Amino acid sequence: MQFIDLKTQQAAIKEDLDRRIAHVLAHGQYIMGPEVAELEAALAAYVGVKYCVSVASGTEALLIALMALGVGAGDEVITTPFTFVATAEVIVLLGAKPVFVDVDPATANIDAWRIAEKITPRTKAIIPVSLYGQVADMDEINAIAAQHGGIPVIEDGCQSFGADYRGRKSCGLSTFGCTSFFPSKPLGCYGDGGALFTNDDDLATASREIRVHGQSKRYVHTRIGVGGRMDTLQCAIVLAKLPRFAWEVSERARIGARYDQLLRDALPGYRTVDASDVNAPLSAPRALAVLGDRTSVHAQYTVLVPNRAEVQSRLQAAGVPTAVHYPIPLNAQEAYRSVANDDPTPVSAWLGEHVMSLPMGPDLSEGDQDRVVHALAAALVPA
Ligand SMILES: *Cc1c(COP(=O)(O)O)cnc(C)c1O
Repeated sequence: MQFIDLKTQQAAIKEDLDRRIAHVLAHGQYIMGPEVAELEAALAAYVGVKYCVSVASGTEALLIALMALGVGAGDEVITTPFTFVATAEVIVLLGAKPVFVDVDPATANIDAWRIAEKITPRTKAIIPVSLYGQVADMDEINAIAAQHGGIPVIEDGCQSFGADYRGRKSCGLSTFGCTSFFPSKPLGCYGDGGALFTNDDDLATASREIRVHGQSKRYVHTRIGVGGRMDTLQCAIVLAKLPRFAWEVSERARIGARYDQLLRDALPGYRTVDASDVNAPLSAPRALAVLGDRTSVHAQYTVLVPNRAEVQSRLQAAGVPTAVHYPIPLNAQEAYRSVANDDPTPVSAWLGEHVMSLPMGPDLSEGDQDRVVHALAAALVPA
């Protein structure tokens, strides 16, 4: 069994994929070819925003969003320490300071109610991360940002593309939405790729210019930019994946709910983690919650287990691959300790010790899913 099965999807779309790749090879416009605009139009419509700007990766999307907003030296950007490093890396690269706010244990997303106390006159942006495929509390975060003079909000939707939030789509919920087409993300290409989404005319123009070295027209550089384009070929590959994507999103939700049910049936006392669990030794496995007003695309299906290292090695011996997203919060990482705020984030630290992701994807068979759950139940029995 694989942690993420990409082969079944490829077989299902092979004809369209080959046709689209062959078309790019025939026209030869490898940079900014017609597939780039075609993909941007399709994705903007899907998300329900005015503009999509395709870029070289999810990291580049976050970097360009911050650059378009003018974030730089001396500024502060509020975000979560319980995320992939790229979320904070781009803040530091621009000379700004990441201000880490702890997460809600039930979802592992930023605790919206702790954001206001960290806002200062230097706060130039807030970057909630929609972790594991579930959108963060965007309405609450947008409201807090609005109450403090309209601080821009950038959703790091690198794991949540396709997820619903109160009837709207991830990446279309705030000033900017950023996503990644890294191969293992819910919508992946066959290399690196990403996109920014916005409804703001000026920010869309700025993002497009920054993507190509700050050019307003050829060799006229009106601002500092980067080499941040997404290849035509990668855009063609995402276009080939789009017709199947709606089905995949619904399968991801169904398979996630099936995991929830199977685990409740197999593990006595299994329930959603809450604040009372944090800071105590974890004696039994716990679930993360998908809240009632949103869906998850389950970029990861993640549970909490005691004795994680032992459980992982038993699962590996049983042929079930697992992964940890993420073992060490960013504010505990050596490179970030001296450049961020030093407020403790105990929930993130505690989650980092216990989270474990199970095989997941739209093509995970029920048989394999049953095997994962049986193997996990067996692995949890003390030796
Ligand atoms: C994957 C990911 C990124 C970075 O995306 P790349 O395309 O790999 O650069 C950023 N943030 C989060 C939360 C991610 O999961």
